[in-house]
Amino acid sequence: MTLTTSGATVQAAGSTYLVPGFEAAAFPVPTDLLVGEGWVPGSGGQRIDILDPATGGVLTSVADATIADGMAALDAAEAAAAGWAATPPRARAVILQRCFQAIVDNVDWLAQLIALENGKALPDARGEVLYAAEFFRWYAEEAVRINGDISVAPAGGNRIMVQYQPIGVSLLITPWNFPAAMATRKIAPALAAGCTCILKPAEETPLTALAVGEILRQAGVPAGVVNIINTSDPAGVCSAILRDRRTRKLSFTGSTEVGRILLREASYNVINCSMELGGNAPFLVLDDADLDAAIDGAMIAKMRNAGEACTAANRFYVQAGIYPAFVEKLVAKMGALKMGAGTDAASQCGAMINRAAIDKIETLVNDAVAKGASVRLGGKTPEGAGFFYPPSVLADVSLDADLLREEIFGPVAAVVKFTDVEDAVRMANDTEYGLAAYVYTENMKRGLQLAERLDYGMVALNRGLVSDPAAPFGGVKQSGLGREGGHHGLLEFTEAKYIAVNW
Ligand code: NAD
Repeated sequence: MTLTTSGATVQAAGSTYLVPGFEAAAFPVPTDLLVGEGWVPGSGGQRIDILDPATGGVLTSVADATIADGMAALDAAEAAAAGWAATPPRARAVILQRCFQAIVDNVDWLAQLIALENGKALPDARGEVLYAAEFFRWYAEEAVRINGDISVAPAGGNRIMVQYQPIGVSLLITPWNFPAAMATRKIAPALAAGCTCILKPAEETPLTALAVGEILRQAGVPAGVVNIINTSDPAGVCSAILRDRRTRKLSFTGSTEVGRILLREASYNVINCSMELGGNAPFLVLDDADLDAAIDGAMIAKMRNAGEACTAANRFYVQAGIYPAFVEKLVAKMGALKMGAGTDAASQCGAMINRAAIDKIETLVNDAVAKGASVRLGGKTPEGAGFFYPPSVLADVSLDADLLREEIFGPVAAVVKFTDVEDAVRMANDTEYGLAAYVYTENMKRGLQLAERLDYGMVALNRGLVSDPAAPFGGVKQSGLGREGGHHGLLEFTEAKYIAVNW
């Protein structure tokens, strides 16, 4: 019942949820709203049921914020803003470092909580918690390096002095697929830059965010600096916050469709926006690739989070010479994965988030098969409770199949054969999205040339993973605006102030 780093005994007031199996090790996760000084039940008295995707049953419920609760969170964030912005960077960094350590110290039950409410397999959940913690460590290190610059104006005389100031109260909206990491990827740089925030997690997975919120409180984040609201009315509550002039920043991760709506909402007060949106990642394998390395990379790029990742390889373009061996090995590796409840220690492919996700995957697979794809593995929803879809491989996918254009967001690998590398580049770039792309070749010169020609914010060359808290993560085209992670992620929460000086 204690957090080792702060030494404080956690006693969350109000309604709480204890992670089953971790009653002694975990603290009760608050299921109310975090507004200012602490946890409040919300003004509407309504609750949102949280489902276990592995069974379809109800885990617990969380408070459902009204517009009035959203405005209370904004009041709290505004009230804390000046004090937090004036807190010395070193003091902010010390708190962020404590947040990092507290999350790491609680990794086991946090992973269990993610596996429960999101459905992902425990190794994925554990990996996410550690990844989520790393944003606090990285931004603790960055908080004391918000360097401006000074130069002599070209005409002489005037000095151009530039200083980066906190942008102000920030609204952070996150999706369900990485309920811890998408929150910390925004909270940590916001706090490092000196901003206060309101986090609005996804309706499907609020418990993880609430647990992180309690950890941050216990680690010493002052009242009002981080506020967390869950709501069944995200459009109403978020629009009200965005249409209030005190809000100066929107950082959103989610679908391109919702991103477009939010950009319009942010336009009323000309609010600065960072947008991490959908993807449609191509995975190119050239004849000269190291086959085993390409398969290992493919398994990570496709199967991390059972394919429920914006960076997930959506389309495999494989050159003719290596194609038969690649498909055969991919089928063998994917077929060896054990599907099951995320909380089952043996599971490697957990449940999808909900029934709608299964319906979408089924529709895309059926369309591809109707257009000539050959099902080499899986391809059929199992009977029984829970939202499961098996690891699947579709070979010889035709170019008009919908799953080459839309995010599958599931454990389905769609494989296309190509002969000419120029065709592969053209097909890879033929999409409205531009988040992540993957290339496997042993010819580094050609790999780097391809990386430059792929219209993506991130290219993994002989790697199946791009995510790194120290690297600028983000997309081009309709995959988003701005970057998260690295030094870039910090600057997203600042404004450049130019001071013209004569001396
Ligand atoms: P979503 O867009 O449906 O929802 C994301 C968040 O937006 C949720 O918190 C939701 O409540 C909120 N929301 C929905 N409508 C809203 C509105 N009108 N106003 C304000 N908020 C609103 O996305 P999702 O289904 O939760 O997540 C999956 C999507 O997220 C995929 O497209 C995936 O590619 C994308 N994603 C992108 C990244 C990235 O870094 N680029 C990372 C993870 C997920």
